[in-house]
Amino acid sequence: MYVMGRSRGHDTTGHLWVEEGDQQERMIAEVAPVVPGGRTYSFTVPEALEGSLTVGQRVMVPLGRRGRLVEGFVVGLDRRVWDSTLRPVDSVVDPVSFLTPDLIELGREIARHYACPLGRTLKAITPEAVRRQRGLKTVRYARLIQAADRILASGKRISEKRRAIVERLAGATEALRVDRLLAEAQVSPAVLRAMVREGWVEVITRKEVIAEEPFDQPLTEPAFQLNEEQRRALKTINAEIDANRFSVTLLFGVSGSGKTEVYIHAIRRVVASGKQAILLVPEIVLTTQLVGRLAARFSDVAVSHSGLTDVQRSLIWRQVATGDKKVIIGTRSAVFAPCPNLGLICVDEEQETSYKNLQAPRFNVRDVAIMRAQQAGIPVVLGSATPLIETWYHSEQRSDYRRIMILRRVRDLPMPKVYIVDMRDEFIEQKRVVVLSRLMKKLLAETLHRGEQAVLLMNRRGFANRIYCPACKTRITCPNCSVNLVVHSTRGESICHYCRSRIETPTVCPNVTCREKLIQTGTGTQRVEDVLAKLFPEVRIERVDSDTMRHREQYRRIVDDFEARKIDVLVGTQMIAKGLDFPFVSFVGVIHADTSALAGDFRAQERLFQLITQVAGRAGRADVPGQVVVQTTTPAFPVLRYALKHDYQSFAAEELQMRRRVGLPPFRRLARIVLAHPREETARREAVSMAQRICEVIESTSLRYADVLGPTPCMLSRLRGRYRYDLLLRTANASSMRQLIGHLEQSKALNTKADSIIIDVDPVSLT
Ligand code: ADP
Ligand code: ZN
Repeated sequence: MYVMGRSRGHDTTGHLWVEEGDQQERMIAEVAPVVPGGRTYSFTVPEALEGSLTVGQRVMVPLGRRGRLVEGFVVGLDRRVWDSTLRPVDSVVDPVSFLTPDLIELGREIARHYACPLGRTLKAITPEAVRRQRGLKTVRYARLIQAADRILASGKRISEKRRAIVERLAGATEALRVDRLLAEAQVSPAVLRAMVREGWVEVITRKEVIAEEPFDQPLTEPAFQLNEEQRRALKTINAEIDANRFSVTLLFGVSGSGKTEVYIHAIRRVVASGKQAILLVPEIVLTTQLVGRLAARFSDVAVSHSGLTDVQRSLIWRQVATGDKKVIIGTRSAVFAPCPNLGLICVDEEQETSYKNLQAPRFNVRDVAIMRAQQAGIPVVLGSATPLIETWYHSEQRSDYRRIMILRRVRDLPMPKVYIVDMRDEFIEQKRVVVLSRLMKKLLAETLHRGEQAVLLMNRRGFANRIYCPACKTRITCPNCSVNLVVHSTRGESICHYCRSRIETPTVCPNVTCREKLIQTGTGTQRVEDVLAKLFPEVRIERVDSDTMRHREQYRRIVDDFEARKIDVLVGTQMIAKGLDFPFVSFVGVIHADTSALAGDFRAQERLFQLITQVAGRAGRADVPGQVVVQTTTPAFPVLRYALKHDYQSFAAEELQMRRRVGLPPFRRLARIVLAHPREETARREAVSMAQRICEVIESTSLRYADVLGPTPCMLSRLRGRYRYDLLLRTANASSMRQLIGHLEQSKALNTKADSIIIDVDPVSLT
């Protein structure tokens, strides 16, 4: 009797007949290749790999008609009847795998949610250095495989060199390191190679740790005890920990309310019960320092952030996987730490956009933390003074969410006093555009006079950001992008902040019929620094933005100097809004609180509220009371009124009303599709026809509240020489978004002639 096999992909001769007797059980690997398309494929495991291949390991497999070798991840292994059309796994790439079955399951969830192929998703989960086992070196060992006395007694003539090796190996109880053996016996590698060929000696390779980099630092414990509110918060979280099931707790606490202490104590409880915990912190320039301070509060702590060397990162993963390290503190990738026994995940500053991955899979670490907690059946804690509107809403609505509020700062320190200045009035009264309002100057001068420190936020780099011709109104933009060039005065050149093109700053209008002298306007950090230096010549000012801070070290030096009070005023971009905790900062100035900079993005208000709250939170953190001046041309915006009163809750309520009315998150889910092409017409045409196909697909499904918005030119309508159009998919919830994208992929509605397509599920930015 015959059974029919499927036709071979690489053999077009038709069906292949296989005798039943030939069928046998083999180890079959399910592999997710790192290629477009979400499928997994089966391969046979060659006998040589049968004992060693593990789930999660990266392998090379043949794909397609020609059997081109591509990398992929083993996502399943089992012994079953072998189908003769299966091709074998070609080779192994990674020595071991840190992708545990749990993490692969998490990878599947991420791949589904963010519409990214599984192979590519799994590749994003473990850092390359970790997969490659950097920090391990390959050490070769030699041992005899024939008994020494037999070799020596065999009567064959044995050279002195060979004898030296045999004697040394025979005298050892275990295999000897090849390099040492050769050195001691004073023979060349060729001699040993010959002995291996002749079957006397066997060489084995082992992976060994290069150097154990100790992260251990002396434990330090603060003098204070948790206050009443912190204890109450901790009690709620502890109850969730003890309940040992999935839940999300929002720890909503104003800046300086001592949220960090609450995480620390909750984590200690988890560790005491023998489990592991992950504390995620956003990627900001200060991360390394903050994490260092946190790490000093635990023993058995592993620290993972972007400043690590490959070797360190690789070591940490191993220590976490073995359970040696109980606490993992880190930025993004720490959410994928291979913990065998996870009990809690805390996400600090859960609203931070730096948690979003900027390449496919475009996951948000905060959401991945929730997915992981849900799969593991453990609690997750989200902390913030300005939670995402979505989080706030869910903490009100959902039964698996809890909410804890800490509305006062530690030690009952007062919240800083906030003043709003209308810059349109300033213009009328001072009869010109000014950088600093009179109130800003006055309070700043008083602060400096008292010997206290100030932080000034100007959320744009450079000197001026508008160059235009007063006669013909020509605007100077980047040759590749639809954005203004920014004048960086120091180098006499202008820079595009998107594609980084640099051109010499033009001084006359490029319009040949005009040739008028160009004018520069708009403020950046450089101009603020300039104005301050003229106004307060004796004051020590330092500018912090990505122009001046090219290395982490520079930033650390400035932070140290600021702490030591060798600097009076820090001027900077949002870099200085986050994480600084200095007792002598009593004044914070926001030079230009502008909603128009983010216009078109429905999160503009939310972002501005977050930024003002964050930077205001730098003031008055110790015994010197804080003052904040916010300059704006739109003082009537609700966001500013609420920021003035530190009233997140009213802001959130109003924002939610608006979002409900127009159908935005959290009431709907969004996915953004961006198409780009060097020819504007092609980009537009492709976007229009894709929108039509999507409409048709939506009509053919029964998904409620699903629609597609657009296409519209992106806010950044041209980037690096390509025109960009976007579409917004909108559905009732996450699961219908998955269904919709599934339908779209199946019906090939997302195929396009545009030269790039980005699908961004739950986008954090709509530029
Ligand atoms: P948040 O993250 O809520 O802004 P932090 O956790 O950074 O606040 O705490 C602010 C400051 O208050 C830190 O310097 C911290 O050491 C201190 N602190 C925390 N808890 C207490 C407490 N119970 N008593 C006194 N100081 C505290
Ligand atoms: Zn550009």
